[in-house]
Amino acid sequence: MGRGLNGVMIKAWRGQDYRLTVRSHEVVTDHYVRLGFDANGLLADHPEYPTQYVRVWIPESGSDKLHHRAFTLIDQDAEADQFFIEFALHHGPAADWARTASPGDQLEVTALEYDAKKRLPATVPSEYLMFGDTASLPAINALLESIGDTPARVWLEWQNESDKTLPVRNKPHHEVTWVQRIDDGRLMREQAQEITCADGAFAWIACCGQTTRSLVKTFKTTHALPKTALQYQAYWK
Ligand SMILES: Cc1cc2nc3c(=O)[nH]c(=O)nc-3n(C[C@H](O)[C@H](O)[C@H](O)COP(=O)(O)OP(=O)(O)OC[C@H]3O[C@@H](n4cnc5c(N)ncnc54)[C@H](O)[C@@H]3O)c2cc1C
Repeated sequence: MGRGLNGVMIKAWRGQDYRLTVRSHEVVTDHYVRLGFDANGLLADHPEYPTQYVRVWIPESGSDKLHHRAFTLIDQDAEADQFFIEFALHHGPAADWARTASPGDQLEVTALEYDAKKRLPATVPSEYLMFGDTASLPAINALLESIGDTPARVWLEWQNESDKTLPVRNKPHHEVTWVQRIDDGRLMREQAQEITCADGAFAWIACCGQTTRSLVKTFKTTHALPKTALQYQAYWK
């Protein structure tokens, strides 16, 4: 099937291909599903780290074209060779595939060493400031589980009422604020402007492209955060 230019580039970056098999399908809310997968050796070759993700190839119905998307692995179990992927549902090829996927269905993915370079800072920050939404919630949950006692404040953007019921894996000393998506992310932009940002803080940002760009600018200019204290990636357009 056709992977197009993305396929050529990912091959050049030495991506390794795997065929996953769906093990389970759990409806978490009306806009969120959690699928369990057999990893077919992926975790043995690509050891787990928080926010680990893979490139996913979604078939386009009625054509041989494959859509290239990225999704986060969560609750990896290397021994059992299994993990989960959680999908925020809207209308797009990947979300539509996940909505109807059932045990036995297969999914082609590619894992890249290059993608694994985005790790947490080597020195423990004074506080994590995390900005995301339901697409980056799996990554944020993995981060929250990995940072131990380090303080964290998390802002999550919601679009559907049920989004606010999604499980967030925060400890009691981690503060979580759900912010409605209004005017293409205006409230998130305002939150980022208004917060106090202590010395030694580390910001992790994964929202839609427009919001991510705007928040990164705020942290670089308004809060004068050094590049080394900022990790960001646009999760959707
Ligand atoms: C590193 C990385 C990890 C990611 N991990 C996850 C993950 O674990 N779970 C997850 O759900 N997503 C995750 N995403 C985001 C996901 O790849 C995108 O949302 C992707 O666009 C979905 O593809 P699609 O085919 O469903 O929709 P597309 O064809 O890309 O888009 C169709 C329409 O839906 C809109 N849309 C796309 N995504 C969203 C969204 N999240 N919310 C609202 N509207 C949207 C688009 O604006 C467009 O109008 C991740 C992205 C990156 C870069």
